[in-house]
Amino acid sequence: MIPEMPILRATPAIEAIPPMTPFIGPEQLMREGSHARLLRLGANESAFGPSPKAVAAMSAELPHLSWYGDPESFALREALAARFGCSLENVCVGSGIDDLMGLVVRAFIGPGSVALATRGTYPTFAYHVTGFGGGLATVDYRADGFVDVDALIRRTKSLRPSIVYLANPDNPSGTLLERGKVERLFDALPAQTLLLLDEAYADFVEAEAFLGPMIHSQLVRVRTFSKAYGMAGARIGFAITTPRNVATFQKIRLHYGVNRNAQVGAMAALEDDAFVAHVVQEVARGRDDYYSLAASLGLGTIPSHTNFVCIDCGDGRTATALMETLLRRGVFIRKPALPPLEGYVRVTVGTPEERAQFAEHFRAVISG
Ligand SMILES: *Cc1c(COP(=O)(O)O)cnc(C)c1O
Repeated sequence: MIPEMPILRATPAIEAIPPMTPFIGPEQLMREGSHARLLRLGANESAFGPSPKAVAAMSAELPHLSWYGDPESFALREALAARFGCSLENVCVGSGIDDLMGLVVRAFIGPGSVALATRGTYPTFAYHVTGFGGGLATVDYRADGFVDVDALIRRTKSLRPSIVYLANPDNPSGTLLERGKVERLFDALPAQTLLLLDEAYADFVEAEAFLGPMIHSQLVRVRTFSKAYGMAGARIGFAITTPRNVATFQKIRLHYGVNRNAQVGAMAALEDDAFVAHVVQEVARGRDDYYSLAASLGLGTIPSHTNFVCIDCGDGRTATALMETLLRRGVFIRKPALPPLEGYVRVTVGTPEERAQFAEHFRAVISG
């Protein structure tokens, strides 16, 4: 007879996490809806692919798949340091921003700590905070969909959180806080508070509008090859901060977590500025297409500094129904879940052909 199986309990922090899925992937949506293919405009993946130079370098590296990658990502960190005018000791490489955020949270948040973020912003930060036993305090977006920097500052001062998280440009709103506002938030930080600046979409923003290079113990900037560089599937990103913070993350990161192909691809991608410039230009065109499409249907949009656009569908129920109808037609988009953005759908910029297909479906569903 098999003895009764005991229920094994995870740590209290993990047991306390409600069952949650950060994202339902398009693959699952395809399985559930029996779709052979989807018009894939929901995850802000680049429609313009990776640089051919990155693909060539990664292909050439494939026969070395039996080797681990350099656990120090030395060559890539050197290249990134040269690009950002800092030293290699200022750079930590990880398996994308999601991984790096986990390191930052694990290092600075424990049971009893509290973090602060905008309610409804990019969710992975909140998942990490909960997973490491911390509490999350939030402030709301402004009614126009911008991050409310004044509210963040007030709350930072009163709460003294361990980490303030700011995605800039923001996802899902697509809005940008100009550098003066980010500086104001940074200047307001209490001495033991860290600003985690998620700059996943930095490559889409003109440099002058953006916070300049800055190395400070209270600032960790994270960037990625997933968006403008078109390498989301390779899982590679980096953090820039002080050598001490980098050394802290080095203690806890997965030693071989960044695969060698991703390192090689990222190095090659970094050398192909012309390709990224081309993507940025194409994406700007795509945003304009979406603005025009929405305007032609009498719908509003939020000015975006990213590779996606939020379109105002009125209210949360309408936006959700629209998203579901589009999915039945094989169109994958997402929508913000929480106010004040719950009435919007979020559409990633596709290729010109994908945009034309989207426009056709969207018009049909809106007028149907
Ligand atoms: C896409 C995205 C990420 C994820 O980046 P990875 O490097 O792929 O992990 C992080 N933050 C924001 C705001 C994003 O939109």
